[in-house]
Amino acid sequence: MKYVLGAKCVKCGREYAAVPDLTTCACGGILDIQYDYAAIRRDCSPRDLEGNPDRSMWRYRPFLPVEETTAPPPLRVGWSPLYKADRLAEELGLKTLYIKDDGLNPTASLKDRASAMAVAKAKEAGADTIACSSTGNAASSLAGNAAAAGFATYIFVPSRAPKGKVAQLRIFGATVISVDGSYEDTFELSKAAIDKWGWYNCNAAINPYLSEGKKTVTLEIMEQLGWQVPDYIALSVGDGCTIAGAWKGLKDLYAAGFIEKLPRLIAVQAEGCCPLNRAIQTGQPWQPMEENTLADSIAVGVPRNPDKALNAIRESEGVAVNVSDEEILAAMRLLGRTQGVFGEPAGVTGTAGVKKALELGLIPPDSTVASIVTGNGLKDVANGIKAAGEPMLVRPDMEALLAAFAAHHITPVERNH
Ligand SMILES: *Cc1c(COP(=O)(O)O)cnc(C)c1O
Ligand SMILES: [Zn+2]
Repeated sequence: MKYVLGAKCVKCGREYAAVPDLTTCACGGILDIQYDYAAIRRDCSPRDLEGNPDRSMWRYRPFLPVEETTAPPPLRVGWSPLYKADRLAEELGLKTLYIKDDGLNPTASLKDRASAMAVAKAKEAGADTIACSSTGNAASSLAGNAAAAGFATYIFVPSRAPKGKVAQLRIFGATVISVDGSYEDTFELSKAAIDKWGWYNCNAAINPYLSEGKKTVTLEIMEQLGWQVPDYIALSVGDGCTIAGAWKGLKDLYAAGFIEKLPRLIAVQAEGCCPLNRAIQTGQPWQPMEENTLADSIAVGVPRNPDKALNAIRESEGVAVNVSDEEILAAMRLLGRTQGVFGEPAGVTGTAGVKKALELGLIPPDSTVASIVTGNGLKDVANGIKAAGEPMLVRPDMEALLAAFAAHHITPVERNH
């Protein structure tokens, strides 16, 4: 780890050596991995990446806290497409919009970036069993990435987790503990079990390497944009690890001289569960909230990474915007219809927030925005149907088809011969 200096507590500033099984500071604060940016600046440049054939998150190794001898884990994670979303931009009345579809990762969410890193570090730590608790995606992602690398997993999810994500867990061979309680309850039970059995800890915000994996999403966005910094990057927020990681990636690039300025973040939460945005909006310390939204991946009433997330939003002079469940469902339809991208509810919440921020005048229409779709809609088919409805059902004959078209006010245009 040529460029890693160590880890530093974001609360008290205490420093630690970057051992592979690092967790939190003795004071309870979350650790941040520190790099020697002057050395990265001396040795590496955007030019070096041009000839790099590695189409995965591991193309950014100088910015990642893994040993030079550690092989990349088996599943191919990262280098998801960044689409220029002109049709959607036009509908929103926005000058330039990019959509980063991170639902195209191997287990279909951005969490694969953290899980690939977790697997690499668990290997370095000599562990054979990995555990975490999650609202669903971190769980299925860890289970898949760990299965591919030959680890056993113990996974704790709240019983409300969508069936698709639970199916992934079972298929990946995880020992699944479905907890009859909230995400908060689930987290606490996993913590007690990890303490008792000593498994490698992949809980959000406990293991400081996970957000180092997540930061590769912004490293990629910037490389895919030719290092031209957009005005805003929008994403949904639950525990806050993803937005903290996204911001860390941007600051790393800035410190190493790869980009010349920093974008502002658009932090999007659900109206029914927005403890972090509420803290930004009121200027008060954050308070727990109920987990009252259908966007299960961001239904986090007690965020696990509040300090880093709030720092990221404030440092970037970010915009905090909340959206209703109806606005989330509408964004699912909008992304699907205009761009052919199918996101799960929390996956499209960032884009719902871009629309809302424009409507509220929080961002100007002549902005350039990159919006991250964090999870795939096929994970949660029930909410896809809720957003878009059931199709028309017809008997297999032409009379029935004509009647159905009439009932749905559909007039197919006859093609000119
Ligand atoms: C986990 C997740 C988020 C939010 O990430 P946090 O680190 O919890 O803030 C957003 N969208 C999806 C699809 C997720 O799985
Ligand atoms: Zn500390």
